Amino acid sequence: MKAPAVDYVRPGSLAEAIDLLAKSQDEARVIAGGQSLVAMMNLRVAVPRLLIDIARLPELTAVADDTEAVTLGACVTHAAIEDARIADPSRGLMPKVASGLAYRAIRNRGTIGGSLALSDPAAEWPGVLTALDAEAMLCGPTGRRSLKCAEFTTGIFETRLGPDEIVESIRIRKLSPEARWGYVKLCRKSGEFASALAVVVCDRALGYWRVVLGAANGAPLVLESASRVVSEGAMGQLQEAVRDDLDRAADRHFDEFQLNLHTVVAMRAAQQALS
Ligand SMILES: Cc1cc2nc3c(=O)[nH]c(=O)nc-3n(C[C@H](O)[C@H](O)[C@H](O)COP(=O)(O)OP(=O)(O)OC[C@H]3O[C@@H](n4cnc5c(N)ncnc54)[C@H](O)[C@@H]3O)c2cc1C
Repeated sequence: MKAPAVDYVRPGSLAEAIDLLAKSQDEARVIAGGQSLVAMMNLRVAVPRLLIDIARLPELTAVADDTEAVTLGACVTHAAIEDARIADPSRGLMPKVASGLAYRAIRNRGTIGGSLALSDPAAEWPGVLTALDAEAMLCGPTGRRSLKCAEFTTGIFETRLGPDEIVESIRIRKLSPEARWGYVKLCRKSGEFASALAVVVCDRALGYWRVVLGAANGAPLVLESASRVVSEGAMGQLQEAVRDDLDRAADRHFDEFQLNLHTVVAMRAAQQALS
């Protein structure tokens, strides 16, 4: 099946893009890499009348590197992160994640902001950005607001992004030189979406520890007990802590197979981070 006919516009600035979006009365969608949206249009899951191409807007492709953080424009591609063509605040975690996300052709066009905006429950970036305590800058007709990525995604393909807002950038605090991380993605073959995904970030210098699951039947799941156990280095208690966290997330309706998968990836990622 092919997508229905659609109008296309490439605005010259972010302000123009927001103006077009606000005037469209829900008939327009912004398109960044198009790697998810075009597939959704071909399947007629999305039927916009107008595509607003934001991929080349300078405001959305810029990268700012200051002493505390790196701010990535929303249209930075997975490939740019994989190739370390831009500053890496995560001491290797983000290039590692990008290198296993989909296939190179998709990574060449797909963007970090597009992935966050869509918030596919099995996607990598929402969980990884939550683990890094990153913050998204959203821009709309009434101005800008920032939101922790941990609060941005609210459910399966559900976010706090308003209908006339655009993700402008993502600010990621720099990890310290002594930071450690672990990352495990389980999928049936490389390039596929995850069946289970765990990210562990430990940064003693920043007093920061976080264990996060992706592909968890909803928004990224922060495992509070497991994060505490990791901060104490009490690996002997980790499995029980992960199971406690998963039990508390009863609304996710994990079956026994999923409980095992999530426990295994969390344990492996924590072992990587603490080894
Ligand atoms: C075969 C295949 C395999 C894939 N495997 C994986 C995988 O393993 N892991 C993974 O994480 N992803 C995977 N993807 C998805 C891919 O990473 C996409 O690039 C990503 O999900 C969306 O980014 P995009 O820039 O292409 O967004 P688009 O497709 O252009 O847009 C997606 C949605 O986000 C909106 N949007 C885009 N940018 C913004 C913005 N800045 N502000 C507000 N709204 C915005 C659009 O309106 C649209 O609704 C796969 C895709 C394919 C086709």
